Amino acid sequence: MEGEHCQTRIIKIDPQNVDESLLVPPAEVLREGGVVAFPTETVYGLGASIFQPRAVRRVFAVKGRPADNPLIVHIAEKEWLDELTPSCPPAAWRAVEVFWPGPLTIVVPRSAQVPPLVTAGLDKVGIRMPSHPVALALIRLAGVPVAAPSANTSGRPSPTVAAHVAEDLAGKIDWIVDGGPCQVGLESTVVDFTTPRPLILRPGAITAEMLTEVTGVEVGMAPGLSSPAEPPPSPGMKYVHYAPQGEMFLFEGPEERVHLELAKRIEEALAGGKRVGLLLTAEMAARLQVPEEVVVMTLSSRKNPEEAGTRLYGCLREFDRLGVEIILAEGYPRIGRGIALMNRMEKAARHHIRLESDEE
Ligand code: AMP
Ligand code: MG
Repeated sequence: MEGEHCQTRIIKIDPQNVDESLLVPPAEVLREGGVVAFPTETVYGLGASIFQPRAVRRVFAVKGRPADNPLIVHIAEKEWLDELTPSCPPAAWRAVEVFWPGPLTIVVPRSAQVPPLVTAGLDKVGIRMPSHPVALALIRLAGVPVAAPSANTSGRPSPTVAAHVAEDLAGKIDWIVDGGPCQVGLESTVVDFTTPRPLILRPGAITAEMLTEVTGVEVGMAPGLSSPAEPPPSPGMKYVHYAPQGEMFLFEGPEERVHLELAKRIEEALAGGKRVGLLLTAEMAARLQVPEEVVVMTLSSRKNPEEAGTRLYGCLREFDRLGVEIILAEGYPRIGRGIALMNRMEKAARHHIRLESDEE
């Protein structure tokens, strides 16, 4: 099927009141070797049974995903973990007991049940039990662990509504299960529990502080996350991600400095004849004077990175749809959910400008 055109069936499911009978056909297709996009609380996933190598290859092919970037295995019951790993470290168990189902992926040793194709040849596997009722019902009905990356073309912003999936993958996959918008909007926290000290490979809604408190061991950040100069400890970290087509500039620093810099850059970009878009906090949007021809997207209040997270990818796709060539984005404080949000904004931006405070 690789590269071939196929008919994509779309079904709408009410996440408040899941009608499981409607999920039987896509679940069967999933089990029998098809590829099915489905909603999770983080972003939409593109699923294949881990026991269907052709389907797993098709997931890589339709996304244009490099073969050395491992897939996360999604399960519907905590007990399925026993089949997928020969030894789940105690700290990982403690995390799973509290945060599953939810936006946490644990990386643990891989059992022989998990084909190396899924883990890009690694001897460890990333596993997650999502909390979205539609995801759980679909995986339970399929009765198999489901390997699923985000349901977007590689490099583009992840899909947070079914229409984003259709934009990238209609005609290339078998089903799109539409369960409405994703609540978190940013991909899961990925934690490697195979190292002596657990390390966050990708920040998400579950923070290092939350994990440290629950596991009783100090959970750190992978080196590549704090300093871009170091080699990435996880394959996915080296790729350009979440990027809009427009050239994105991310400004971080004291509000006053960012305000002045934005005003200057807007003027310059307009003088250069560019179509300009702004991605701002509500606070900045309220004070910045903006010419009418500029596209303004307000993410959320600066104090609400959670809301910004649910909106980020949708806004980036909207800039593309409107043909915005230069995106000027304001950074968020790096605390709580702001850490994951800034990680995705940094990856989406081609330029990152750190402005120092005036007092220094
Ligand atoms: P995505 O499927 O695009 O949401 O990305 C999944 C990411 O999870 C990968 O890019 C890796 O960073 C991480 N990951 C998944 N499985 C593993 C694994 N076995 N070892 C290390 N990192 C993993
Ligand atoms: Mg992805």
